[in-house]
Parts: sequence; C-alpha cells; structure tokens
Amino acid sequence: MQAFDVQVSGAGIVGKSLALSLARLGLSVALRGAPASTAREDVRAYALNAASVDLLQRLKVWDALGAGAATPVHDMVVRGDSASGELEFSAWEQRVGTLAVITDAAALEQELDVALRFAPHVTRVDADVAASLVAHCEGRAAAATLHALDAGFERTDYGQKAIAARLVATLPHRHVARQWFRSPDVLALLPFDRPEAERSYALVWSLPAERADALLAADAAAFETSLGEAVGADVGILRLASERAAWPLVVGGAATWCGPGWVLVGDAAHVVHPLAGQGLNLGLADVAALSAVIAGREPWRGVGDERLLRRYVRQRAAPTWAMTRITDGLLRLFAEPSAPIRELRNNGMSIVNRVAPLKRWLTARALDT
Ligand SMILES: Cc1cc2nc3c(=O)[nH]c(=O)nc-3n(C[C@H](O)[C@H](O)[C@H](O)COP(=O)(O)OP(=O)(O)OC[C@H]3O[C@@H](n4cnc5c(N)ncnc54)[C@H](O)[C@@H]3O)c2cc1C
Repeated sequence: MQAFDVQVSGAGIVGKSLALSLARLGLSVALRGAPASTAREDVRAYALNAASVDLLQRLKVWDALGAGAATPVHDMVVRGDSASGELEFSAWEQRVGTLAVITDAAALEQELDVALRFAPHVTRVDADVAASLVAHCEGRAAAATLHALDAGFERTDYGQKAIAARLVATLPHRHVARQWFRSPDVLALLPFDRPEAERSYALVWSLPAERADALLAADAAAFETSLGEAVGADVGILRLASERAAWPLVVGGAATWCGPGWVLVGDAAHVVHPLAGQGLNLGLADVAALSAVIAGREPWRGVGDERLLRRYVRQRAAPTWAMTRITDGLLRLFAEPSAPIRELRNNGMSIVNRVAPLKRWLTARALDT
C-alpha cells in the first residue's frame, strides 16, 4: 500500500493544476516543489485559450484572479516583413467570445497556491514519497529525470532568446494582440490591463541570442528606441514598466511519455517556441486529459497502470506533434532571408487572410490545443 495515490513532481502552473485536478477526484496527492516565490515576479503574461480558461474555472482558480489580471483579446493582427503580408483575426468573424485571454503569470501562480492551501487531499512535500503514480511536471528542468527514466528527450536549441517585459503605451490597446514576423526575430505585443488599464502590453520578443543579450544590456531608453523602431507608430510610444527577463528558446519532446508508475505532463514532455503562445495551453490540455483518463478508469485498475497512462498519451500525442510542427515551421519560414521566399510567405499571408474557412481552422487549432 502506497502512502499517496499520486506524487506530482514540480510545482509550476501545470504541476499545481494537476495536483488540484486529481485531488478533486478524491485522490491523495503529494505535491513536490516550493510555492511560487514573490522575490522576483514572473513578468510574463500568458495567452490562454478557451480550453485552459475552462479548466482553471473548474479548479476554482480563474474567478479568483484580481482585477486586470486577465485581459480578453478581441482581434489579432499578424504582420510579415513587407506591407503586403498581413493576417487579421477577429473574435467576431470567428464567432467566438474572445480569441485568447492574456493572463498575469505571477497572479495565476499565486491563486493556484491559495487554492492548494484549501485543497483537502493535497500535501506539499519537499522530498520523494511513496506513491502509486509519479507525474513529472518539472518543465524544461526535467532533463535529468527524463534521462533516469530513459524517456529519450530530444531538444534543439534555436540559438534564440525570448525577452519578456511589461510595457505602457500612449495609445489604448483596444484589445488587439499584435505580432510581427521580422526575419529573424518575432515580436508579440499582448494587450494587458496592468499596470495601466487599457494601455499596457506584455512583450514577448524572440531574437538571436547575441542581439537579445545586447538589448538586455542596453539602458531603458535605448531599449525603448529599438522597440519603437521594430513596431512602428500604430501603438503609440512604448515605455518599459517592468524589468526585462529572457528565456533561451528550444524545441523538443520526450520519445516516451509514460511507463509503469510514471507519466510526463507539460513542458517536461514537450517544449515549443513561444511564438504561438501555446506551451502552457498544451500543458493544461495534458492536465485535463490525464485527469479525465484517470477519472474514467476501470474500478480494478490502479492509477499507475501503464495501459491506463497510454490512453492519455494517445490523446495528447497528435495535437502536441501538430503544434510543435506548426510553430517550428513558421519560425523557420520567417527566418529565411532569401527574397523569393520572403515574397512567397508574404503573399501566402494575404491569401490566408482572404480564405475565411482556413482562418477559422487556424483559430480553432489555437483555441483548443
Ligand atoms: C517568454 C515566454 C512566453 C510564453 N508565453 C506563453 C503564452 O502566451 N501562452 C502559453 O500557453 N505558453 C507560453 N509560454 C510557455 C509556458 O511558459 C510553458 O509552457 C509553461 O510555463 C510550462 O509550465 P510547466 O509547469 O510545465 O513548467 P515550468 O513552468 O517550467 O514549471 C516547472 C516547475 O518544476 C520545478 N522543478 C524543476 N525540477 C524539479 C525537481 N527535480 N523537483 C521538483 N520540482 C522541480 C521548477 O522549479 C518549476 O517550478 C511562454 C514561454 C516563454 C519562455
């Protein structure tokens, strides 16, 4: 007899959500990992899709987020590297309430910690415990674990870094998310209501590592000038409203996602480029799928049964593979400097922009990973 039904290893957003979700099924859960630190807040804001919001609502976390912590996106404009290449998405045209909700990373972590304090079946631990199932949610840091499990993790370094920061603009955001594919960098401005309602953005700017390091080392005024040159005048003048933080960018995944008594969830299983804002959405979709598979198991089947866990892997393999290929393909397409490819991709964007069913298909993929 094991002390716990499940040990969740790694207390990031995916690990915390999984612990809450499994506890709601009546399972006893040991969550290994410290609560979110308030010493250095995560400056990121995540673009969450409808499926992720639905899960967080069911976990009673979403509605507790404070004012301004979640900002709906009604429109999205994607620009290529010429005036002809532009794609526009609107929630109205796609017949959905919102395209995404931009969510404060630090606020979400804190609300998950609060919910965990009140969750009756979750115990926080700081060392491994005896459990029928270990769910590895250690994110990108899972390499050593994956090696020990012989899970065959493959990872390619893009040689890029993503700079994240909060910005305040002189013009209102009007709930429009903007993205520039500017060979070789990709820049996203996500509309946000913190620190200033209606005028803030979360920045995610992916660049070759050397250029990113130079921008991180530049003083605030020089950084703002470079940013202004990159985005043009549409959003007004942008000012930094937080520290800048950076993440090295990789793509990869584990070859094997489960075995007897263990399973991989979130970034521990798959890491994608942030250009489509889908990494956490994939991880939360993993949480929903694994919880549903465990809830629906036969009465005689244990939670660590590999045949049960394979049902979860079968559900998640195809959408994860597709999103990894889409983000990687887009990045490579827009990193290609040659003139014919440039023309082709910009023409391609304007064609997609005019084909409503194709746009609807693309939106549906992004809304439900
Ligand atoms: C700049 C940037 C912007 C992004 N924007 C978006 C977005 O808009 N939308 C979106 O969906 N995704 C986005 N992502 C992706 C998203 O950040 C990740 O997919 C998500 O954070 C993964 O969550 P996780 O809990 O699986 O892993 P992590 O967030 O890495 O959490 C893992 C946790 O495990 C802990 N840990 C590690 N090793 C151990 C161990 N041995 N024992 C115990 N604990 C351990 C770590 O300390 C950490 O707390 C973005 C990523 C970047 C870099």
